[in-house]
Amino acid sequence: MSDYVTSTRDGEIAIVTIDNPPVNALSHHLREPLFKALEAARDDASVEGIVLACAGRTFVSGADITEFGSPKALAEPNLPQLCALLESLPKPAVAAIHGTALGGGLELALSCHYRVADKGAKVGLPEVKLGLVPGSGGTVRLPRLTGPEAALKMIVSGNPIGASQALAAGVVDAVAESDLLAEAVAFAKAKVKEGGPHVAVRNRDEKLAAARADLAGFDAVAKELTKKARGLEAPLACVQSVRNAITLPFDEALKKEREFFINLVAGDQSRAQRHLFFAEREAAKVPGVGKETKPRSIAKVGVIGAGTMGGGIAMSFVNGGVPVTMLEMSDEALDRGLATIEKNYSISVSRGSLKEEEKQARMARFSRTTDYADLADCDLIIEAVFEEMSVKKDVFGKIDAIAKPGAILATNTSYLDVNEIAASTKRPQDVVGLHFFSPANVMKLLEIVRGEKTADDVLVTALALGRKIGKVPVVVGVCHGFVGNRMLGARGDDLEALLLEGATPEQVDKVFTDFGFPMGPFAMWDLAGLDIGWRNRKALGKTAVIADAVCEMGRYGQKTSKGMYLYEAGSRTPKPDPEIARLIEAKAEELGIQRRAISDQEIIERTLYPMINEGTLILEEGIAARASDIDIVWANGYGFPIGKGGPMFWADLEGLPKIVERLEHWHEKTGKTVFKPSALIRSSAADQQKLASRTAA
Ligand code: NAD
Repeated sequence: MSDYVTSTRDGEIAIVTIDNPPVNALSHHLREPLFKALEAARDDASVEGIVLACAGRTFVSGADITEFGSPKALAEPNLPQLCALLESLPKPAVAAIHGTALGGGLELALSCHYRVADKGAKVGLPEVKLGLVPGSGGTVRLPRLTGPEAALKMIVSGNPIGASQALAAGVVDAVAESDLLAEAVAFAKAKVKEGGPHVAVRNRDEKLAAARADLAGFDAVAKELTKKARGLEAPLACVQSVRNAITLPFDEALKKEREFFINLVAGDQSRAQRHLFFAEREAAKVPGVGKETKPRSIAKVGVIGAGTMGGGIAMSFVNGGVPVTMLEMSDEALDRGLATIEKNYSISVSRGSLKEEEKQARMARFSRTTDYADLADCDLIIEAVFEEMSVKKDVFGKIDAIAKPGAILATNTSYLDVNEIAASTKRPQDVVGLHFFSPANVMKLLEIVRGEKTADDVLVTALALGRKIGKVPVVVGVCHGFVGNRMLGARGDDLEALLLEGATPEQVDKVFTDFGFPMGPFAMWDLAGLDIGWRNRKALGKTAVIADAVCEMGRYGQKTSKGMYLYEAGSRTPKPDPEIARLIEAKAEELGIQRRAISDQEIIERTLYPMINEGTLILEEGIAARASDIDIVWANGYGFPIGKGGPMFWADLEGLPKIVERLEHWHEKTGKTVFKPSALIRSSAADQQKLASRTAA
């Protein structure tokens, strides 16, 4: 008996209950008494069966990840030892699962002879999301219950499945409809009565035999599942580990799985992914805003502008169950916007990811109007109209006139000054930026732009609402481009110079995809459309040597099948185009630039280093509250490789003194301000301080 584990009896069944709030994580202080309680139940001759259950809101939802990297994580009894003990019990052990059994929690349950799950329970092995393989038998035991392919899908995706799916897949043996503990005890009693044999999962082979005969089939599934792994080690280790379960004896496969785990947990990629995991939790808190600040209630949302962003934003709310009224300038614009939304849902239906009834239910959550008065009962009104201050102010004036007191007024602006927009209303405290990313119904990032006067409860509401609709919200301050686009600007500042001096678009883009980005900057220009930047430059009286010339040739990117690359009919794959190569050469000649071979390292130094530098300025200015918030922005909105932990985390890996030295070099050579090292990056490098754990001054 301890504070963390209690043993009780129901007749011949011992009920061992874990109680380690909040989520029954497998901390060392729990493992010790749990091991003892299981030994005691094993040694008590009057006990004929054991039920392993949990108090509180969930079954064991995983390892204690705060122990990772510390000796406590491996201190005995460790999880593999607990699993081995459970598996060796001479009497049937039944796991009673409610809430979630994740990671080490599911591994514990898989070491029992049987599993009974509450009908609302979920089970999964999410280790891959932290850059790990399950390290206590998950990859070796799960395939024995479900077959290797189904197990691999769960392990490589890291996504949990519900109780009924778990029953169908063979992960659990029964689903409890009303009283989990009573049903688990009844299940254990029935098993005792049957008399066994109670075959430990390790000794089950029937589901593996078929895969052993067709390893090529397994390999094909594995290849498909890891197609998007992009340099991540963990998904590949998961595959190898499940493959070992098929081809090697149990103990050997188990040993190799542990080796994978131990190597990965000490590696940079897993450290990076764990950093992002904690960073996301941290981003949910706003410095200076306490728990006593309660969110406002948001039952109805108004979206102004049914274009690219408005449509996606509206879909995000509707998908999260919040009804939306769309407002446009005309019925035709509304027709167009809603037709696009319906088309998007239809694509999901045809792909099988959405049921037709659900599509209908979602469409039914939309109302439409051209009259601002119809937004008077909205709790949140968000505008996604043209990116022009005069238009934004006009729209905010109209909203201000009709919105109910306490309604939140939000702008989706990418660059404009949220304080100026707020000042055009009589309630600047209710105004906030909600910067979604395109496509807004898909992209996870939500920059919540805090104006000078934005009320605390508006921020808290935006954070809660963002999470409700499945976004990763981060609070940022007001500046041109906020965190993400401002750093994107710094990353792109020297791109044309690189081309003129000798790089090619395909070389630059390959450096980025090799780094782990889903696409390089020039492929991104083509995707977004070069004409947008061209129009903006013209409006601001600015020019660009290459991009302007490309637009003048009528090459706007994918939409015209030509941009920085060539696109064959119906294809989105960029093909290098000799015409662009000639254009770059001609422009270089015109400017008297001698082209030379540019190394991949130089490309990184002239794109990613200034972007890091900009991040440190953002931190200095307090636009981001923490370096980890910047990492969250880039990992969720701009495809920064998660195995590198975001730009600030990666900067530490790369080495700050080296970055500063190269920035100085390029600053001297080019005179460009983007290369001028910030005071923060200089002092961090000099004091050997890690950037990723810095907070704003
Ligand atoms: P868009 O041109 O696709 O859509 C704008 C819509 O607003 C149009 O349908 C237009 O009819 C409507 N509109 C214009 N003025 C209006 C008014 N006074 N009242 C009602 N409706 C009006 O533009 P978009 O790409 O959706 O961008 C909208 C906003 O989102 C801009 O502020 C932009 O900076 C921002 N944004 C865009 C992206 C992106 O990638 N496209 C990403 C993030 C943020």
